[in-house]
Amino acid sequence: MTATLIDGKTIAQELRAQIATATAKLSRDTGVVPGLAVVLVGNDPASEVYVKSKSKAVTDAGMRSFDHRLSADTAQADLLALIGRLNADKSVHGILVQLPLPPQIDSTLVLNSIDPDKDVDGFHPVNAGRLATGQRALVPCTPYGCVVLAKRMHPQLSGMDAVVIGRSNIVGKPLAQLLLAENCTVTVAHSKTKNLAEVCRRADLLFAAVGRAEMVKGDWIKPGATVIDVGINRVPGEGGKSRLVGDVDFAQAREVAGAVTPVPGGVGPMTIACVILNTLRAACASAGVPEPKVI
Ligand code: NAP
Repeated sequence: MTATLIDGKTIAQELRAQIATATAKLSRDTGVVPGLAVVLVGNDPASEVYVKSKSKAVTDAGMRSFDHRLSADTAQADLLALIGRLNADKSVHGILVQLPLPPQIDSTLVLNSIDPDKDVDGFHPVNAGRLATGQRALVPCTPYGCVVLAKRMHPQLSGMDAVVIGRSNIVGKPLAQLLLAENCTVTVAHSKTKNLAEVCRRADLLFAAVGRAEMVKGDWIKPGATVIDVGINRVPGEGGKSRLVGDVDFAQAREVAGAVTPVPGGVGPMTIACVILNTLRAACASAGVPEPKVI
């Protein structure tokens, strides 16, 4: 069997076009233009690239982008003061603080200071609690994107056996909650899980969010399963260059799975699309209008 390739790049482009249409309608009907503030502390090169592509996605969607670049030696109190101003600013509907933060800053304290209704990363404990209790929440963008990709293959996820490898607060745990909300039977595996390959072979839907290059082998995958690879790992490539691979051995997975996401070009582009989707959702909530149905 050769698995279907789940083209996250194309699906993300479609989603971004739908978000742009809904943003134009919101602005026309209410005068509200969604605004996203991105805060970058220091100059980590990977974060710089990520922030730049987020800002471009925001402006491409017809939203306002407010970038705040602070030096690496910024005091925690100054960052908290900036977040306080952004929380109070009515033109800002979403706030993203790019991680990692420098060591003098307590990331948890900073993330918890963001107004939960502007927390478009969905990391605030209030949003985690809302998600876990089935209330309307801003949900973390990477897991959100994973579920959108899975639904492209299976519009009804209800009753499917889902295995999530990884239990981080930003990917594994919220992904498990989203799948539970879709009525999947969910198993969350982690570094202490016994017989991991056997656990994975039960999955109709297998999600890998581990951070270990090509860990999931072909014989871990149930024939015909849908495999969503969240991992981004840099490994040595040809000619002294490096290349990106996922947590799944893609070549092996293609021979067994029914569908699989590539790395790059799978989950990654969906994360950015879901950041702007969350900004639109936050803007709709602040304008008191129903969220547009874009997924
Ligand atoms: P993380 O916080 O390091 O969590 C990794 C999880 O994997 C942990 O729960 C850990 O278990 C588990 N794990 C580690 N080794 C394992 C093993 N040998 N067997 C089973 N489980 C194991 O990572 P993360 O932030 O969730 O990110 C995971 C991957 O996704 C990374 O490659 C990251 O770069 C990528 N990522 C991609 C995007 C995107 O937009 N595409 C976004 C976010 C993250 P314990 O809890 O027991 O330690």
